[in-house]
Amino acid sequence: MGRKLDLSSLSNDEAEHVLRVLQRDMQLRQKEEERLSEMKQELEEEGTRCSLLCKQHKFNEHCCIRCCTPFTFLLNPKRPCLECRYNICKSCCTFSQSERGYICASCQKSR
Ligand SMILES: [Zn+2]
Ligand SMILES: [Zn+2]
Repeated sequence: MGRKLDLSSLSNDEAEHVLRVLQRDMQLRQKEEERLSEMKQELEEEGTRCSLLCKQHKFNEHCCIRCCTPFTFLLNPKRPCLECRYNICKSCCTFSQSERGYICASCQKSR
């Protein structure tokens, strides 16, 4: 003689208990959904930050990060700064003999 699993066959106490369990389950699920949507938002923000940095990086492949002059092969070749790792042009950097590399003007100032 198996008991049916519908609410009408339960006593009041049992029905209340089942309802409470269901409510708690709903609340937990809601919290989980909120948490997930927050995480999603954070991920989206992180994504835009990454794409901005990527764009800046691509821009820096072709232009000096300091004065925005486009690089040209031989005439104005790009040089990576030892400090900030950005590419800079001839007029925005100085050669460091001791480090055997270029340092851009703003990094030199901050030293
Ligand atoms: Zn420059
Ligand atoms: Zn620099």
